[in-house]
Amino acid sequence: MRRPIEPDAVDLSGERPGVVARRSFLGLLGAGLAAASMPGQAAAVPVEPDRRIPEGFRRGDGSFTDPPVIQDPAAVQLDQNENPLAPSVEERRALADALELANRYPDAEGRLVRRLADHHSVDPDSILMGCGSTEMLKVCPDAVMGRGTEMVQAFPTYPTIDRYARVRGGKVISVPVDEEGRADLAAMRGEVSRRTRILYLCNPNNPTGRIIPVREMERTLAEVGPKTLIVVDEAYHEFVDHPEYESMLSRAAGRPGLVVLRTFSKVYGLAGMRVGYAVGHIDTIEGLRPHRLVLNLNNPAIFAAMAALDDAALQVETVEMNRSARESLQREIPSFGGRPLPSQAGFVWADFGRPTRPIRDALAERHVYVRTYRHSPRHLRISTGMPEQLTVLYEAMEQVIGG
Ligand code: PLP
Repeated sequence: MRRPIEPDAVDLSGERPGVVARRSFLGLLGAGLAAASMPGQAAAVPVEPDRRIPEGFRRGDGSFTDPPVIQDPAAVQLDQNENPLAPSVEERRALADALELANRYPDAEGRLVRRLADHHSVDPDSILMGCGSTEMLKVCPDAVMGRGTEMVQAFPTYPTIDRYARVRGGKVISVPVDEEGRADLAAMRGEVSRRTRILYLCNPNNPTGRIIPVREMERTLAEVGPKTLIVVDEAYHEFVDHPEYESMLSRAAGRPGLVVLRTFSKVYGLAGMRVGYAVGHIDTIEGLRPHRLVLNLNNPAIFAAMAALDDAALQVETVEMNRSARESLQREIPSFGGRPLPSQAGFVWADFGRPTRPIRDALAERHVYVRTYRHSPRHLRISTGMPEQLTVLYEAMEQVIGG
């Protein structure tokens, strides 16, 4: 069996050009806070203002600057797994109409919940709305983790729940994916013990793009008891066309201890509006509910999400764009020396067999943004994009790497 990765080796964030390492930023902040709490000393500003907000856009620690597309509308932003299609006419109309409600609290959330309950054929009480699925990735550890508890995950995987599990004082056990980027479910189940409060399954997985076959999901649901919260993150569900994949959403409402996370950020193109949700057994959802932020959705987000659900064409268009971009990336990446893994998500993960940070930086100089990770220094993760964006990407790669 593969050895789990020790928590300290886990890289919590992707990297962006010019971004200060998270650890050093937190170190500075920690020093500042320590100074601020010393008796008899004035509260010190923790870091110099121009170092507090690093160059470039970052998430997770509260410091943001403009993302590339705002700095430069011509930027080809393929590092955030966003939907490159602009919001649909219906979504925009809903957003504009909802501006009239800017003075009102977002009481219409119930309508969105009922609409989603219909959509998924579950009880409205089985749904918990979040400020993106990100909020649910915080709510789950907030509800069940503390000192002495553990979370099991594949590695690499989407890092948000890992971050918040540690904030709660929990230990994170990371089981490496295989050479082909597939999660080792048998090894992960082997790590589940009476201390395990969360088993996080990102399906398809970000950043590897691989799915967990339904037979492995079923074995896991059968073997792992209801005291462990099984969090299945299906952010890219709509993009999957693999015969061995099955969503766990239809089982979630009937199986205590299983929650499925979905988002409006990907196929519905509303990443900037921050709408996501968890679906689970009513008792499980009731256990999570007190941990969410009260009034966490805003009116434009609620109305845009309802418009998106009503617009079947929007989903078809995005899925088609994504499929054709995935095929294009699979075809072209090898000509630049990369080995892409088959992807079922909104991006492609490829091994270039050499350090990719210089490639990322040289592409960024050409206004093309792709993602690197400290934990996988020879890989790039490239989000799917429109054909014109991919043409710009390939031209830039030709200049940077050569064909
Ligand atoms: N889960 C996965 C696997 C993701 O890739 C992302 C975003 O990239 C999220 C969750 C967060 O999505 P949201 O925008 O709903 O917070």
